[in-house]
Amino acid sequence: MSGAHDFTFPEREDQDIAAAAHDPIPYVDGNAAAGALSEIFRIDIIAALGRCRHCGSVRAFGAAMVFTDAPGIVVRCRDCQGVLLRLVQTPTRYWLDLSGLSYLEIDREE
Ligand SMILES: [Zn+2]
Repeated sequence: MSGAHDFTFPEREDQDIAAAAHDPIPYVDGNAAAGALSEIFRIDIIAALGRCRHCGSVRAFGAAMVFTDAPGIVVRCRDCQGVLLRLVQTPTRYWLDLSGLSYLEIDREE
């Protein structure tokens, strides 16, 4: 019963997980969120200018990065990747988080 030399560390198998964290997450532009948001807003959200609360960048909403591979839609700032908007839909409700936007500047229809 020598014991100690029988002990072997298991192969570390978390390297793939660590590598995966560096893989870019696919995203599309703000138009991808237009369909769902058009059910909530009666405005042209794509053309609206939004100010990022995180970095102060002001861009058209359509230029934002939209991640749909999530439990809902996540819209991130193209400049700092901060979260601008989160939208989760259930069969009966929308859950809308706009806390990443300082404001939206929306053209009035004439
Ligand atoms: Zn930003």
